[in-house]
Amino acid sequence: MTASPVIAVEAIALAAPATDPSDLDAARETLLVRVTDADGRTGIGEADGPAAAICELFGMTGRFDGSRGLSELVVGRDPFELRAIQADLVAATAYHGRRGLGIHALSGLDVALHDLAGKQLQRPVYQLLGGARRDAISPYATIWPGGVKGRSIGQMMEEIGRQIARAAELGFRAVKMEVIFDDLVTDRDLVRCIREGRALAGDEMMFAVDFGYRWTAWRDALAVLEQLGGDDVYFAEATLSHDDVRGHAQLAGRSPVRICAGEFSASVHEYREWLEAGVDVLQPDVSRSGGLTELVRIAELAGHYGAVVIPHAWKTGITATAVRHFQAAVPNCPYIEMSVPELWDSPLRAGLVAPEPVVRGGRIALPTAPGLGIDLVPETVERYRGS
Ligand code: MG
Repeated sequence: MTASPVIAVEAIALAAPATDPSDLDAARETLLVRVTDADGRTGIGEADGPAAAICELFGMTGRFDGSRGLSELVVGRDPFELRAIQADLVAATAYHGRRGLGIHALSGLDVALHDLAGKQLQRPVYQLLGGARRDAISPYATIWPGGVKGRSIGQMMEEIGRQIARAAELGFRAVKMEVIFDDLVTDRDLVRCIREGRALAGDEMMFAVDFGYRWTAWRDALAVLEQLGGDDVYFAEATLSHDDVRGHAQLAGRSPVRICAGEFSASVHEYREWLEAGVDVLQPDVSRSGGLTELVRIAELAGHYGAVVIPHAWKTGITATAVRHFQAAVPNCPYIEMSVPELWDSPLRAGLVAPEPVVRGGRIALPTAPGLGIDLVPETVERYRGS
């Protein structure tokens, strides 16, 4: 096959109308990345974060090596050179891009190049990542009742119960309960709420908890997790302040429940710090931690520490799809997060790409279509473009 180079890189800011910020809809805006090859094939990705700011990192004209624009660097490249391209991009943006939004931007481009390369080769992306290491995908459904907004804890638990039941009907066998209840509950009440959620999910369901950065002191977190030790809680997410590496280390060394870290971290360098701290579960996001190339690198490193990777995915269907390919190819990824359109009222999550996968018995079949195997919905792109 003759190489078909990238001839265009588009960075397209999409934004749905604002909602209550306490609803934490990270898919209200996204930076859609589309690459096109010389034969007219396209690949898509997305970068998480303020879309206008990330857009600038693509379109800028670089003044010197170390501060180049992403688009100019990728045009003319063969999309199969995935690792080489990523290394070149990291070097060429080193003055501003080593962490944070610079890595978010690279992430969207990396996923788009995987999609394009897969389409050129007529193979699903997970094969570019090394091939299948499992025979199906295992998602967990995130159970998010929304911000408190004047509701009682009883009303919040009622909504959580409704969503857990719906997730089971939709075929999920794994859920994560978000317990962002602000000051509605004491830590003692919280233990009761989590036990109630655990009972609602039932014995057959994997059950995990996201604490929404509830504590600043690791001993406070430990006191709750010790009480949950016998309740079969699979992991504890967002216990302490995100960047409290030492606190996470103290907690991970004592907690009876697996400790997660790093849903906002970027690049393998930051995840190495988490691994050295002894956390059990890394939660990189494919749309901001460095794309599929970096997620595989992070997972390989985690494997040397006996840790697992369960990617964060609270974005559109592009991210949701990319992590399915990641899980297919990665042995130490027991679950992936799935934001479920039926449970989460987010227009760009529900409508940006199609098709949605079928979940049956807690599993999704391995993808078979070339590339990511999804298409943009043109009406959604036009509707939310630049609005
Ligand atoms: Mg989270």
